Amino acid sequence: MKKLNKIGFPSKGRSSEQVLNDLNFLKNSDVNWKSGKSFGYVYYPGEEYAKTINEAYNLFFHDNALNPQLFPSLRKLEAEVVAMVNHLFNAPANASGCMTSGGTESILLALKTARDYSKTTRPFMDVPEVIVPASAHPAFLKGANYFGLKAVVVPTIDLVADVSKIKEKINNNTVMIVGSAPSFPHGLIDPIEELSNLALEKNILLHVDCCIGGFMLPFMNKLGWDLPCFDFKLKGVTSISVDVHKYGYAAKGASVILYRNRSLRKFQFSIYTKWSGGVYGSTTMLGTKPGGSIAAAWAAINTIGENGYLKLVQKTMDSTNLLLEKINEIPELSTIGSPSMSLVAIQSKSIDIHELADNMNIKGWSFDRLQHPSGIHLTISQVHSVEIIEAFIKDLKWSISKVKSFSVSKKMHRFQVSTLKLVSKLLPEGSISKIQKRFASIDPSPKRSAVMYGMLGVLPDKDLDRIVKNLLDKLNSLDD
Ligand SMILES: *Cc1c(COP(=O)(O)O)cnc(C)c1O
Repeated sequence: MKKLNKIGFPSKGRSSEQVLNDLNFLKNSDVNWKSGKSFGYVYYPGEEYAKTINEAYNLFFHDNALNPQLFPSLRKLEAEVVAMVNHLFNAPANASGCMTSGGTESILLALKTARDYSKTTRPFMDVPEVIVPASAHPAFLKGANYFGLKAVVVPTIDLVADVSKIKEKINNNTVMIVGSAPSFPHGLIDPIEELSNLALEKNILLHVDCCIGGFMLPFMNKLGWDLPCFDFKLKGVTSISVDVHKYGYAAKGASVILYRNRSLRKFQFSIYTKWSGGVYGSTTMLGTKPGGSIAAAWAAINTIGENGYLKLVQKTMDSTNLLLEKINEIPELSTIGSPSMSLVAIQSKSIDIHELADNMNIKGWSFDRLQHPSGIHLTISQVHSVEIIEAFIKDLKWSISKVKSFSVSKKMHRFQVSTLKLVSKLLPEGSISKIQKRFASIDPSPKRSAVMYGMLGVLPDKDLDRIVKNLLDKLNSLDD
């Protein structure tokens, strides 16, 4: 295979075999998610379902939902996906929505809708504001930034939205408040009912982010879990985001944004009637809109069905409960909060949890890291059988003993953090470019991130931003 950093444009096409060989070769270095040793990022429903969902994607591979008049099939499929998910969320008859490319787009659209709705209801308003609990997904901050809204981030109380603090922050410019069901970091459901009452009292919009919970919580309810209400049954909830490409087990590129009524959804649409290319209208952020992900989402919901999802959810929760039980038996570890579904955050009061994570990575496990407080984060899904959880616990115990035994990396870590603390005190703020250069050369693979997390914790925000930007730049280019 050619060296990637010497890439020019191919002068001649190569055979199908050569092209696919290269792709398969590259794929070998990726995380092996079918093994169950990685958590999050991939949601695999198993061979049988996947076959149907893949085929559905391929059937609509070339088709474009941008023009529903040319593709009445996609128009129907999208409308049905929206209606089916609305049904799960106890939507009123006048509810509506759209399919989007993912949770981020759904959230961006909720923000855009809130901004434009408020322009008509409150034309004399300053910069519109959206109030976001600190545990909410970064997509809300991304969207506020894109669309010129002010995001007011409010600290959580016991890791969930603090309704009284949110109430204090509401002013004449507030257009929307946000709750998560559940939040990604700790799997906890915000007090949506109280937020709903607050939104009604103040006559503002309330978005519920059900991106990750959308295909878990409604089925857990049906299985008899005692969950608080989080959907359209609460009159103050005006929009909900639900990812079909997470626990819906659809192909990537499938989420829905739901609205309580059709008139609210209209604020989401983009129209330009003067273009020489004709009258242009699009419902979501995309222009060309892939038919494959719409068909695959429709196929996933129809081939799995309520009975299938109930089984997948039960399996996922059996594994989650086993994990929680085992974690609580390990004296060095505890969960952060008591998760409502299959997102488990683990912390330690006695050992460095990020060093524990590094050792687990060496054993082939992969998962996310948490900060404030430090932890590791497991997104359990149906690939994680109880056998896998048992293997995970076994390696976790091994890793704890590794971290507890005298280790060079521990000393190194302490040394580097304390050196950095000293250096950042001595240097004027923002002038630690040498340290930044060192960061740029740090291996971005998660194998040894305890040192990085330790260092990140002592840097000023401004420098952190720049370091992460440089890292993104490096990760998204052909550099070695
Ligand atoms: C995944 C997720 C999102 C963002 O969805 P993407 O599909 O990654 O764009 C938003 N909110 C929550 C709670 C999520 O888990």
